[in-house]
Amino acid sequence: KLKDREVRCLVLGLDNSGKSTVVDWALSTHKNKPRQPVTPTVGFQIHTLPYQGHNIQIWDIGGQSTLRPYWDNYFDKTDVLLWIIDIAAAARVGESVSELEVILQNRDRLGYSCRIIVLLNKKDLVNKPTEAIDAMKRRLDEILKLENIPIEIKATDALSGDGLEELLPSIIGHNK
Ligand code: GDP
Repeated sequence: KLKDREVRCLVLGLDNSGKSTVVDWALSTHKNKPRQPVTPTVGFQIHTLPYQGHNIQIWDIGGQSTLRPYWDNYFDKTDVLLWIIDIAAAARVGESVSELEVILQNRDRLGYSCRIIVLLNKKDLVNKPTEAIDAMKRRLDEILKLENIPIEIKATDALSGDGLEELLPSIIGHNK
C-alpha cells in the first residue's frame, strides 16, 4: 500500500536558492516530465512522486521572506526537511544558516524523527567549490552538534543534476 509508504518532504530555503529547480529536476528525471523554465516560487505547490514503492510528497512552499511566518504550519508530519542553500550567494549564506538554526531549535515542532538533508546548491557558480563546501560543512556541523541532529549534506548543481543522483534514495531513507 503506497499510502503506508508516504514520505512527506518539505523543501525550504531562502528565495532564489534553487528550490523549484531541484523539485523540477526530481519530477523531470523520475516522472519523465519535461523540464520547464522555472519561475520563483510563489505560494506553495505539492507534487507527488512515486519512487521505489514509496510515494514521495514534495511540499514546495516558497522562500520569500513574507512567507516565512507560515513555514511553521507545514512542519507537522514532515518526514524529511530538505533545506537548500545557495552557496554562491556569499552575502546570504549567513541568513540561510540562521534560518535553519531557528528551525532546528524548535525541534519539537518539526518532530524528532524528521530527517534533515541540506543541499549546498549552485556549486557550479563557486570559484573554489571544494573549499567553500568544506567550510560550509564545518559550519553546519558546529550548529548541528549542539543540537545533536543527524544531517546529510550534499553539494549540488541543480541545473545539471550533478550531486542530486542520491537525493531520492536519501529522501526515502535508503541511502546507505
Ligand atoms: P527558488 O526561489 O528557491 O525556487 O529558486 P529557483 O529554483 O527559482 O532558482 C533561482 C535561480 O537560480 C534560477 O534562475 C535557476 O535557474 C538558478 N539555479 C538554481 N539552481 C542552480 C544551480 O545549481 N546552478 C546554477 N548555476 N543556477 C541555479
